[in-house]
Amino acid sequence: MQDIRQLTLPQLQTAFEQIGEPKFRAKQVYEWLWKKSAHSIDEMTNLSKELRSKLSKQFKLVAVEENIVQKSADGTVKLGMRLHDNRLIEGVMIPEEDRSTGCVSSQVGCSLSCTFCATGFLKRERNLEAAEIYDQVVLLNKHAIEHNGKPLTNIVYMGMGEPLLNYDNVMQSIRYITSPDGLGMAQKRITVSTSGISRGIVRMADEGMKFNIALSLHAATNQKREKIMDINYSNPLEEVIRSLNYFYDKTGNKVTFEYILFDGFNDSLEDAEHLISLYHQVPAFINIIEYNNVEGVTLKKAKRENRDAFVSYLRNRNISVAVRRSRGKDIDAACGQLANKNK
Ligand code: SAH
Ligand code: SF4
Repeated sequence: MQDIRQLTLPQLQTAFEQIGEPKFRAKQVYEWLWKKSAHSIDEMTNLSKELRSKLSKQFKLVAVEENIVQKSADGTVKLGMRLHDNRLIEGVMIPEEDRSTGCVSSQVGCSLSCTFCATGFLKRERNLEAAEIYDQVVLLNKHAIEHNGKPLTNIVYMGMGEPLLNYDNVMQSIRYITSPDGLGMAQKRITVSTSGISRGIVRMADEGMKFNIALSLHAATNQKREKIMDINYSNPLEEVIRSLNYFYDKTGNKVTFEYILFDGFNDSLEDAEHLISLYHQVPAFINIIEYNNVEGVTLKKAKRENRDAFVSYLRNRNISVAVRRSRGKDIDAACGQLANKNK
């Protein structure tokens, strides 16, 4: 049976014509599927019973289901979700006074194996469908309203998986999330985080959309970066920087460099100099991120005095830098900790 959400609106309209239903009904159903995010055909109460049963015979509607909800002491909510094939993924809602951020997964596991990331220890089992990414946003939105009194204001593709290795579905999910037929969110409220896949960055630049991009940099020379991120062998920094400049030319959006400070690995002032040199090669912001503990990883988080010295060194040189507090660590909901531990 065909999954009804795999159809575009024109395809749905054709399918309706074939079963002798008027075109406008297809539009109604499309609204139920996306704008109203119905989880079953039976919920579509402005359709006749007869039509609903006709549709149920022809189509299935597969939706992501909430499995486990965990709430951190700091208010962060982690959702374990079950897919139609029983695989599990995680998403996170991070509440702040003036915003609610939803962090979504793009794959089950990850095919890359960055040495510091819990998801990297899992196999990549499969890509998520656009609808499965969309469903995470809908579910996280519900928790944003419930726990933070406001719907999601921002979405980051920083959950499990490498978004640019599931390129088409990730782009399609952004279209659903931002379309007036979907959730109608502003493109500029969305950030796609990547380990640095040049070809994907160039393709995104050509999409004609206005979402943001974050690069998981974590080391500012090829030699050092290769030690912790395999992807750097096939996508060296010069190429990544070139593609980010192309992205900036096309969209006017600066890139955010994500930089985890590891003790004794990338936290010296010489490392800061390398980072500054990259910063001057492409319009960028820098986010300094605290390393969240992952079992089996030998890297440790930087000492506080080294972190402060590193950050001051950047600030004194007028670099645009923010230090990100980690959220949801007590429930393994922080960056890099998503690994379906509750299985
Ligand atoms: N695959 C994409 C998006 C998911 S990872 C990417 O790598 O960008 C989301 C962010 O969490 C990335 O910036 C990643 O580098 C970071 N991260 C991974 N492990 C982490 C850890 N142990 N502590 C803090 N951040 C981590
Ligand atoms: Fe995959 Fe990103 Fe984790 Fe690297 S940091 S293993 S790319 S999820």
